[in-house]
Amino acid sequence: MKIFCIGRNYADHAKELNNPVPSEPLIFMKPPTALLLNNRHFYHPDFSKNIHYEGEIVLRIAKNGRSVQPEFASRYYDAVAFGIDFTARDLQDSLKSKGQPWEIAKGFDRSAPLSRFVPLEELKNAEDIHFQLKKNGEVVQDGHTRDLIFSFDTLICHISRYFTVQKGDYVFTGTPAGVGPIQIGDLLEGFLEGERLLSCQVR
Ligand code: ZN
Repeated sequence: MKIFCIGRNYADHAKELNNPVPSEPLIFMKPPTALLLNNRHFYHPDFSKNIHYEGEIVLRIAKNGRSVQPEFASRYYDAVAFGIDFTARDLQDSLKSKGQPWEIAKGFDRSAPLSRFVPLEELKNAEDIHFQLKKNGEVVQDGHTRDLIFSFDTLICHISRYFTVQKGDYVFTGTPAGVGPIQIGDLLEGFLEGERLLSCQVR
């Protein structure tokens, strides 16, 4: 099982971190040990002093495919969930400045809280999913997938040029503006179309 993640897929978020808007999807991966399921607590690791939440819509890959063509891309995912791409921003900034890979800043243990999946056919408008992240009861991120720079279908095509996508893989599709730091004691909650799917207490 693989966890693909997409960086800078909302223009407002790229701007808030002073990153250029990319001309093609920026792909990175997290290992399966990054998953944090069933609304379990997130225990703040000691190697970072600046872990950020990034609330994201996550796709579930429904079947295996390589070099998927655009007209077939939508057949390769069947459900969405709310996920958080926890990022050790201090480590990431230091790695970026040295031109080094991001793995330890992005793929560390439990860095990917993930809710249950909702089948796409249960959504009233799968073309424009509304999602929100609340921190301690306050909305800090409010996104619509119509604002994606690269659509779900484009991501499937692009990823599958390089990696075989396999049934059961996940794709974290990127975060909108409003990312910020977490502290021990914070409660993060993820909403999809107004329904709370994810709850994550920072310990
Ligand atoms: Zn992210």
